[in-house]
Amino acid sequence: MTGRRADEVAANLDAVRGRIRAACAEAGRPEDDVALVVVTKFFPASDVRLLADLGVTDVGENRHQEAQAKAAECADLRLRWHFIGGLQSNKAAAVASYADVVESLDRPKLVGPLSRGAHARTGPPGTGVDVLLQVSLDPPGAAHRSGADPADLDELARLVAGADALRLRGLMAVAPLGEDPATAFARLAAVRADFLREHPDATVLSAGMSGDLEAAIAHGATHVRVGSAVLGPRPAVQ
Ligand SMILES: *Cc1c(COP(=O)(O)O)cnc(C)c1O
Repeated sequence: MTGRRADEVAANLDAVRGRIRAACAEAGRPEDDVALVVVTKFFPASDVRLLADLGVTDVGENRHQEAQAKAAECADLRLRWHFIGGLQSNKAAAVASYADVVESLDRPKLVGPLSRGAHARTGPPGTGVDVLLQVSLDPPGAAHRSGADPADLDELARLVAGADALRLRGLMAVAPLGEDPATAFARLAAVRADFLREHPDATVLSAGMSGDLEAAIAHGATHVRVGSAVLGPRPAVQ
């Protein structure tokens, strides 16, 4: 790729890492508490290579076909691929064949296919797929709600725990549009505290994007998913 793109991405990445450091300091947390997942959806595999050169270890994608193609093209880079998009049950097994972390498990129907896909992976025995349960922060009954109702998390966790190729790591959420993200993430922190009482090893909290990573870190995020602040504006969705 051109040096110009590399310079731009490097500068953006520095700025985002600086924001994460500052937010950790503000929250009284060590800076290595928060991992950065760079969301590469809509951007080419050449950008993924640039990111790997710049020390990025984790990348996120939200559409199966694009993710699968890019993961195959970049297989030599040994990145961790996070699937962060809506999952269809007929694609879930395929997603679990290349995603190292599936962040968007939000209904019981997905557990069987994810587990089958995870079992079929080649690789050393015991390498399974890490799973986060996506929890909805929308009010009950909201249109286009994605994510599980907080009341359903325990059942989902139990199903994941019973699937031996899946490892329950924690929770993921997206702040709803039209609400102060700090208010939404405060609600998320309470849901997570309850969840951790039953599932003390599921310590990951994936929350916070380009516009709201500071609020997420203030409320306990361990992973932030940042796209446009690193790679620039995406073409309009659809
Ligand atoms: C696209 C996306 C992101 C990144 O959003 P930016 O605002 O570009 O940082 C994070 N999480 C999910 C689930 C996404 O789909």
